[in-house]
Formats: sequence, C-alpha cells, structure tokens
Amino acid sequence: MDLSENLEPDQTPGLVCAHHHLYSALARGMPAPPRTPAGFLEILELVWWRLDRALDADTIEWSAKLGALEALERGCTAIIDHHESPNSIDGSLSIIAAACAEVGVRVRTAYGVTDRHGPDGAAAGLAENDRFLREGGEGMVGLHAAFTCSDDTIAAAAELARTHRVGVHVHVAEGDADTWDRLRGHTADDWLLIHGVHLPDEHGLTGTLIHNPRSNMNNAVGYAAPTRFANPVGLGTDGIGADMLDEFRVAYVKAREADVTATPELPWSWLSTGWDLFPEARRDRVTWNYAPMDPWRLAYTTGVSPTRVEIDGEVVYADGAATRVDGAEIRAKAAEAATRLFTRLENL
Ligand SMILES: [Zn+2]
Repeated sequence: MDLSENLEPDQTPGLVCAHHHLYSALARGMPAPPRTPAGFLEILELVWWRLDRALDADTIEWSAKLGALEALERGCTAIIDHHESPNSIDGSLSIIAAACAEVGVRVRTAYGVTDRHGPDGAAAGLAENDRFLREGGEGMVGLHAAFTCSDDTIAAAAELARTHRVGVHVHVAEGDADTWDRLRGHTADDWLLIHGVHLPDEHGLTGTLIHNPRSNMNNAVGYAAPTRFANPVGLGTDGIGADMLDEFRVAYVKAREADVTATPELPWSWLSTGWDLFPEARRDRVTWNYAPMDPWRLAYTTGVSPTRVEIDGEVVYADGAATRVDGAEIRAKAAEAATRLFTRLENL
C-alpha cells in the first residue's frame, strides 16, 4: 500500500511505537536507587524491578493515561505495550486498555511473564495474558526475557500465544546476561523480539526485531546494528516516551555513527514496519506543523509537532490539546499518583 495515498505533504498515518512500557511513565523523578547501578543487570535490579513491585491498580491507571496522552501529543496513535506489576497482576492489562481507550489511543498490551517471583508469579502472569485475550482484549502474550524464565514458562507462553493466535512479545539479548538461545524452536513470525543487541547475525529466531536505540545507549548495552539481521526491523522507545519522530532521528544518528553511508530511509523503513505490525494506524491521520514529511528533511528538522490527530475517523487532538480528555487534569493526577508510588518505593 502506498502510504502517500490520500495524504497531504504535511500528513502521515498515525505513528506506531512498537515497544513501550506504559508503566514507566511515572518513573521520572523517582527516588535514586540505593547505589549507582554499575551495569545493565543492576539497572534492572536497582531501578526497574523495584519500580514494578511498587505498582498498584491506581498507579498503573495513571501511568497508562499519562503515557497515552504523551503519545497522542507526539502523533503516535498506536502503542505496543509490555507490562509488569508483580504485586498487582490480575486485571492490570484491562486497566491499561481502558486508560488508553479513554484518551483515544490504540494499544496492544501484554503481561511480561517471569519466574523472578517464583512459579506462582509466572502462573499469575500467564493467567493474566490468558484472561485478557479470552475476554477479547487487544494483546499479545508477554515474556520478560529468557534469562528470567524457566524452560517450562517459555514453552507455556509460546503455547498460550498459539492458542490465542497472537505472537509473544519478549526482550531478547538486551544485555549479555540473557540466555536467549533457549527461545530457539519456540518463536514464530508474529513474535516481537525486543533489542537483539547481543544476538549473532544468524540466530535462528523468527519474528520482528524491535530496535530501541535511545534505551540501548542509555543502558550502555551496545549497538544492535539491526541491518545485519534477516528479520523485519521495527522501532520502539522501551518506555522512554512515544515520540517516534525523535526516536527515528536517534536511530538515524546511531546508524550514521556506525556507517556514514546510512541514509534516513533506513530508520524510516524501521518506523514504517510499525504499520505492518499495527495496520489500523495506517487509517489514522496526523497533520504536522511541517511539510513535506520526508525522511531526509525530518532527519535534520527538530521540533516537528502535530497540529491535528485523527484516530479511526475521530479528531482526538486539535489546537494543541487532546479533545477527549483534559490533559492538564491527567498531568496533575499522574503527579499525585507518582508521589504515592515513590512513597511505596521507599518503603519496599
Ligand atoms: Zn523493554
């Protein structure tokens, strides 16, 4: 399909964030970890695996509303979310779906199953994916990453995904600690393989590789160099907002740093994979304050912003504001929720 069909030079379809963690929206300003993390595993242990344990239904809801609002404000109309809240698993995916629906943004969520909290925790995560999908939720089956899952858990997630005819959304080889090879024999074309930094060129896993350049640099895990893979490649933020034009620009300079002959068409092709993963977003229309919306221009033009966003035929953003919700109210309530979250974090 020609994406320029019915599009004015200042328009694009809705942008897609192919890997997000809406639950991290309240993390900004969180209390510092007990000590400075020295590497990727410590970043997980001291920051993210503490934050996720402090989440409850209320903070999941306000994280998702704030994350959806911020996506909308940047022309991102479809989010592929990966969620974990080990002390509030049951019902969590429905809270996220409802929060995004209120703002008007499309979401496909998944619970990141893990054995970090024992076999009962893994079972509860699998059950939440199953419940949400059985009730007709737009979702996938989530796995945290092979290195925190037993072989049985990996097999159970793959089987559950086949049952529901959806893919598995899983972190793969983000750091060198990940024993990703245990996913071999389980993957399928509809899987999302997140990061792939430490995958060899020939890895034998099927699915779409999702590149998260800003997050990878932030965690100093290395460069994924996604052109070396046969898999389709998409673009995600790994929870650092949903500003996909910004992520495209970061992907571009990172690609250039590795190969000065790289062109903006390369990261634009990664951004465009989002429309294969979330085809409904092709029907959304974003009008921008810049024209033409051409990769070569956008690679070197900062501050391009939407003026109007139409999702599924409804105008959900116009004149600098969301139309369905009060953006200022969401920010105020999210800030209050963040204060409660930080208190719980400090008392863990
Ligand atoms: Zn992630």
